[in-house]
Amino acid sequence: MALRLYNTMGRKMEEFKPIVEGHVGFYGCGPTVYNYAHIGNLRPYVFLDILDKTLTYLGYDIKHVMNITDVGHLTGDADDGTDKMVKSAEERHQSVLEIARFYTDAFLSDIDAMNIRRPDVICKATEHIPDMIELIKKIEANGHTYMAGGNLYYDISTFPDYGKLANLNLDELKAGAGRRAVSIIDQNKRNPNDFVLWFTKSKFEDQAMTWDSPWGRGYPGWHIECSAMSMKYLGKHFDIHTGGIDHVPVHHTNEIAQSEGSFTAEERAEGPWVKYWLHNEFLVIEGGNKMSKSSGKFLRLQTILDNGYAALDYRFFLLGGHYRKPLAFSWGAMDSARSGRESLNQRVAKLIQKANAEENLSLTKENFRQVLSAIKPTVTDNIDRFREGLENDLATPVALSAMQKESNGKGRKASEALSNILVMDGILSLDVIPCAFDAIEKQASASIPDSHEGDPEAQEIDALVAKRTAAKKAKDFAESDRIRDELSARGIAIIDTPSGAVWKRV
Ligand code: AMP
Ligand code: ZN
Repeated sequence: MALRLYNTMGRKMEEFKPIVEGHVGFYGCGPTVYNYAHIGNLRPYVFLDILDKTLTYLGYDIKHVMNITDVGHLTGDADDGTDKMVKSAEERHQSVLEIARFYTDAFLSDIDAMNIRRPDVICKATEHIPDMIELIKKIEANGHTYMAGGNLYYDISTFPDYGKLANLNLDELKAGAGRRAVSIIDQNKRNPNDFVLWFTKSKFEDQAMTWDSPWGRGYPGWHIECSAMSMKYLGKHFDIHTGGIDHVPVHHTNEIAQSEGSFTAEERAEGPWVKYWLHNEFLVIEGGNKMSKSSGKFLRLQTILDNGYAALDYRFFLLGGHYRKPLAFSWGAMDSARSGRESLNQRVAKLIQKANAEENLSLTKENFRQVLSAIKPTVTDNIDRFREGLENDLATPVALSAMQKESNGKGRKASEALSNILVMDGILSLDVIPCAFDAIEKQASASIPDSHEGDPEAQEIDALVAKRTAAKKAKDFAESDRIRDELSARGIAIIDTPSGAVWKRV
């Protein structure tokens, strides 16, 4: 099977064929860094991470670009709200750049904790103002703009395909009865859905960050940064653009109008700006509430950690839902995710112990990658299902269940199951094997008596265990098995751990 993705443009599943064979360029809309990311904001980046790693797994050479919005994103979707960055800076008595730097670092540490690979290019809006100005000049030269009230607007009536991504009806929009809510009608606009490319007249007197431009000193509208930076790093035409579903009717619709509105006739003839549009559905709090970063009250990754869960429990929870379906968050769902992950790790721990005991593999937390990647498993039924799941529009629930099934190790050598799990976890990134080693160590340390001083029987058992280890090392398995049996008859179990054999009374 080949990779199939659901393209929002056209609303159908399509076989994925990159513009240049073997290479994929993709752009994901990144965070607005005026506050911490809420747990819903992290969903698009786990989905992007799966896209990133699946493409690599399928053999593509990838370039993954993500922006950081550190200027110009307004509180409302319309251009009439307050600047979120400025609002946050005012509230905290810090400079806008200080705020942006702080929350960018917080975002990056969240995605690191969630095992999300950092994109190849992470680009900040404030560092690309000249690129935006150059792009706006092209849009202006193509006749798509007008000045009104000191701001430069995009005139959507000049772009025939406006609203195609969202299936918007242009006639309705012209009449001002669009399907989108426009909070406050900006009197400068010819059409309520026109949007600002460059502001020189801000409602805020002390606009902190402004730049010189052909339209006067000011700052860019929100949408232009994604058009400018994606084309800078990926070219005029690229394969995939992603974001949350909320971006379809406004942000991505406007990005298309800007990017394709800047094209020359030849560039237009070469094809669309973006070939595949992928959107994740929302994470909702049980009860149906949408979470909002600007409301100030929200759950973030730290809240999850404070409640005793690991960041990877949250990743496990997200992978249990398909990215195109809404997902309901609850603490009960987090409990299930945590116990699901624990039992997966436990089963893998057993596989490690089995491989070390029966196949003499001496797997350790340090060498497992090297040892297991050299093994070519003969039974690949779960790997096949795993791959088919991902190829079918990145169905992580299928991929996750294939990995869970593989952890049973049925019908194959333990080392083969572990080798398959290593491949699967390369994409799901739940650190299953390292966590299984941790589980083994935890189990062992819980069973080791504090000190054997003054306990002659324990000292004798220590000596026997050491003798068995020496026999195993000398490949005298008859002797090592004899010692194990002797101890077993006395009610002593030997546990082989990465740091050596330990024993406990059973
Ligand atoms: P922002 O930082 O507000 O620009 O949002 C970052 C990303 O999170 C965007 O792609 C949004 O579409 C997405 N997003 C916002 N809220 C949610 C949510 N509750 N569930 C999933 N994605 C969301
Ligand atoms: Zn964007």
